[in-house]
Amino acid sequence: MNKVVIASQNKHKLEEIKDILRDFPLEIYSMDQVGLSNLEIIEDGDTFEENSMKKAVEVMKRTNAIAIADDSGLEVDAIDNQPGVYSARFSGEGATDEKNNQKLLDMLQGIEIEKRDARFVSVISVAFPDGKRLSVRGECPGVIGFEEKGNNGFGYDPLFIVLEYNKTFAEIDPQLKNKISHRANALTKLKKELKEFI
Ligand code: IMP
Repeated sequence: MNKVVIASQNKHKLEEIKDILRDFPLEIYSMDQVGLSNLEIIEDGDTFEENSMKKAVEVMKRTNAIAIADDSGLEVDAIDNQPGVYSARFSGEGATDEKNNQKLLDMLQGIEIEKRDARFVSVISVAFPDGKRLSVRGECPGVIGFEEKGNNGFGYDPLFIVLEYNKTFAEIDPQLKNKISHRANALTKLKKELKEFI
């Protein structure tokens, strides 16, 4: 059976990806299980595709197994798709969710709601030892609010309003978020496309 390593230290993502892979004839390993829990891969690409593929290829080379990695973030139209690949470190060294959200609010000051369109993006990349590569992109559209609302989730969730529900990601039920999120969309695509590869 093919071995696959999921190149994420995030338990939540690990479980989501494992769940999608259940229908495939694969032996699934975490980074801990292959002794790579301390592996640091610098995300220095300009795109989510580059960063996620860099992680997948690095782990594939070290393990000689199929490797799956993801990269995600927020793009806001009015500020040229920032914070993009810099989402986690938007406010610089010592960045926190709070500081990142405040920086985003500051940059969007005076911009009306019609011009606050944004999207969360999740790209999942797969590197196979025989050289095959696969990347899928999932998106979730929304608008950036004028103040933080809600206590669920993480990151930019309290500012990200999903128009269909007129609520932020931090206000809606986490189970609903997991159904409509950028990551959920990417995982659905991954499942479809992996069928061609495995
Ligand atoms: P990473 O893909 O885990 O490196 O995430 C990058 C950054 O994007 C996170 O630190 C968050 O700031 C932001 N981000 C990605 N997905 C979400 C989400 O679902 N909600 C809120 N913020 C997110």
